[in-house]
Amino acid sequence: MKNFGYAAPKNVGEAVGLLAELGGRGKVIAGGQSMLIIMKQNMLAPEFLVDIKGISELDYIKYDEKKGLSIGALTTHRTIEKSPIIKKTYPVLSEMEDNLAVVQTRNWGTIGGNLCHGDPAGDPTIVFIALDAKLKIRGPAGEREIDIEDFYKDYLEVDLNPGEILVEIQVPPASPHTGAAHSKLMVMKGDMGIVGAAASVTVNPADGTCSGARIALSNVASTPWRSRAAENVLLGKVITGELLAEAGRAASAELEPPADVHGSSEYRKEMAGLFVRRTAEIALKRAQAQS
Ligand SMILES: Cc1cc2nc3c(=O)[nH]c(=O)nc-3n(C[C@H](O)[C@H](O)[C@H](O)COP(=O)(O)OP(=O)(O)OC[C@H]3O[C@@H](n4cnc5c(N)ncnc54)[C@H](O)[C@@H]3O)c2cc1C
Repeated sequence: MKNFGYAAPKNVGEAVGLLAELGGRGKVIAGGQSMLIIMKQNMLAPEFLVDIKGISELDYIKYDEKKGLSIGALTTHRTIEKSPIIKKTYPVLSEMEDNLAVVQTRNWGTIGGNLCHGDPAGDPTIVFIALDAKLKIRGPAGEREIDIEDFYKDYLEVDLNPGEILVEIQVPPASPHTGAAHSKLMVMKGDMGIVGAAASVTVNPADGTCSGARIALSNVASTPWRSRAAENVLLGKVITGELLAEAGRAASAELEPPADVHGSSEYRKEMAGLFVRRTAEIALKRAQAQS
């Protein structure tokens, strides 16, 4: 690993100011769980590390009935997993975190670091896509918001300009009669998913039809993947077992997943369909349970 400069600003203003001064030579580090791995592999050699882990103003979870859920970017995975607010409002996030990595990584790694690393195999992103989340980003030009599904540009590449920091994840309040679920194919609990799926399904209690569906997949492309093809199969119809299977086939058909030591492209394609079917079914049952 190459030598680098280091500073630990005390607040977001200082961090953004320092990054602006460094003009592209600086790189943010939070928990370092992903970044130190790629630095040790010499895939990244920043001149200067701006350590934001100690900025406590970005470590929070809040819920407001009108605005929904707000999670500060420096909240750890473990805090999200255990949060009573999350368990009550969006239990799918707690469920997802329980299957993410080992407890040591969850204790130190941050949600913002996970999203900004841009790994298409990451778990939180697809759940946030299913929940229609937005990201709040602050930089030298001020603050901006972006839909999470537009944040991912390519493998390990996200829409952050030099000097910008992710500050918050915002999840709108869920519509009534909505259920959400996440599941992933893993050899051991806590492994990165070979394939993962997240779904949010809303059911119209008057006639039982599906009035909302958001479905996303991890580790099937160079970025997290939203499957509008699968969603379109479900929307406006009464969801049956056959329709869920058709949604799975539609998701699978549009994919050309990468191959690696964990699975061939064909295997991932097949598993993507299966996990869409299973995950959407769990989301549907959760939505129906509210009727
Ligand atoms: C053993 C192991 C197992 C894992 N298993 C899983 C798994 O099953 N599922 C899964 O999804 N993930 C998994 N991960 C990834 C883990 O979740 C991430 O490593 C962790 O969340 C990254 O957070 P961090 O705070 O350590 O980020 P860092 O490593 O510090 O940063 C990661 C990247 O994000 C940038 N960054 C960090 N914070 C911000 C910010 N607020 N604004 C702008 N840029 C920022 C950094 O510049 C860097 O590019 C695993 C990691 C390890 C080491």
